[in-house]
Amino acid sequence: MMIAAFVDCSCQAGTVPKGALLGHCTGALRWNVVASRRMVIIGGGIVGLASALRIGERFPGDRITLLEKEAGLGRHQTGHNSGVLHCGLYYKPGSVKARLAVSGIRQMVAFCRENGIPHEICGKLVVAANESEIGRLHDLEERGRANGLEGLSRLGPAEMREIEPHVGGAAALRVPQEGIVDYAAVCAAMAAKLAARGVKVVTGARVKRLRSWQGGWIAETPVGNFEADFIVNCAGLHSDRIAELAAERREVRVVPFRGEYYKIRPERQHLVRNLIYPVPDSQFPFLGVHFTRLIHGGIEAGPNAVLAFAREGYRKRDLNVRDLLDSFTYGGLWRFLARYPSMCWFELRRSFSRELFCRSLQRLVPEIQSADLAPGGSGVRAQVISPAGEIVQDFQLIPRANALHVLNAPSPAATASLAIGEEIAGMLPEG
Ligand SMILES: Cc1cc2nc3c(=O)[nH]c(=O)nc-3n(C[C@H](O)[C@H](O)[C@H](O)COP(=O)(O)OP(=O)(O)OC[C@H]3O[C@@H](n4cnc5c(N)ncnc54)[C@H](O)[C@@H]3O)c2cc1C
Repeated sequence: MMIAAFVDCSCQAGTVPKGALLGHCTGALRWNVVASRRMVIIGGGIVGLASALRIGERFPGDRITLLEKEAGLGRHQTGHNSGVLHCGLYYKPGSVKARLAVSGIRQMVAFCRENGIPHEICGKLVVAANESEIGRLHDLEERGRANGLEGLSRLGPAEMREIEPHVGGAAALRVPQEGIVDYAAVCAAMAAKLAARGVKVVTGARVKRLRSWQGGWIAETPVGNFEADFIVNCAGLHSDRIAELAAERREVRVVPFRGEYYKIRPERQHLVRNLIYPVPDSQFPFLGVHFTRLIHGGIEAGPNAVLAFAREGYRKRDLNVRDLLDSFTYGGLWRFLARYPSMCWFELRRSFSRELFCRSLQRLVPEIQSADLAPGGSGVRAQVISPAGEIVQDFQLIPRANALHVLNAPSPAATASLAIGEEIAGMLPEG
């Protein structure tokens, strides 16, 4: 076991700064030997990286190690998302998500500016496709105002088309604070900062077992065992399993929902300037298929939200028996399917039908045709479903004496990652 002995010493010869490593002090001494806390963060997605940064800032004496099972960082949700900076429009006022989204976009934009990361605050339109959706659009506007968003404005058809000339629909909400970003570049900048601060980032380190040891943990991985006084579980699609390894009862479960994209063919990309979203169904955390301009060029349409048969199942045919059993032996999933059968069935059909996908997009941009859509990538969302069959919308950060579990960090957790990290650092006990 490697413990650095930091010594706080006041001696007649003068005061030695706290944290100085002493070996030769003489005279009347008061020694306090403090072992620096060993903090192990499990998961090298954007939430794990941002947490390592913020914990390091709050507790500079902690020795932080980040364990990631893949050969590189940000290979799952973080590396397969839409690249949007969400500003807190959708979330229930007073929820942790609303608070951290609003603070999170400020922190993320500041981080991008400081580190020269490509991003752009281009604003977005949320479009009511017809009169029947205008009431929900107004509700959304109120929610945004309650969350403190600035500059929201309601637009009629003519004003909407000044911003997005090819948009359809009856009315829109303009959200000027939102934008687009390169999250891979964000992760690379975070990793570089961590390395400069002496944080150890270990890839290929899948945590297979957590052994309780001397009030802390030993994390067993294929590349060695890591001792921890405290663990922070940021394992995304596997966060419920890591919590279970740490002796938590798995009362809720992560259920994977794949989000599939199409790319708009280059000759039709003029149909969309920036971000065009539908009015979402407030029962679900998914925002509905939309158009997104990518920071490095190109336009994407999607993502949908289909139940996946593997937690890292990026293709329709991907199936993992353990993941499948995990989902379908969970009563919460069956209750969810029973509660929302038509939505689930529609998502499944739309996943297999480009025509149906295109019809959803035509509600936003009527000129778009299915021939304009080329197959794109996909991502898998880690979504906690409650035993009652409800989608858990809020972020779930579960503190324990020697662990903190980030159990649910769905969208906009990429935007909000630095605020989530700050929140986690604030929840940790003093070292
Ligand atoms: C399709 C899609 C679109 C989205 N669009 C947006 C968007 O535009 N804007 C936005 O803000 N958010 C968006 N999100 C949400 C956002 O991407 C996620 O909320 C965020 O990336 C979560 O980060 P994370 O670090 O918690 O998870 P992840 O990025 O999944 O990272 C978890 C990490 O833990 C590692 N891990 C798992 N198990 C172990 C283990 N046993 N040992 C070691 N390591 C382990 C994994 O390999 C992984 O790297 C989107 C998500 C998806 C899927």
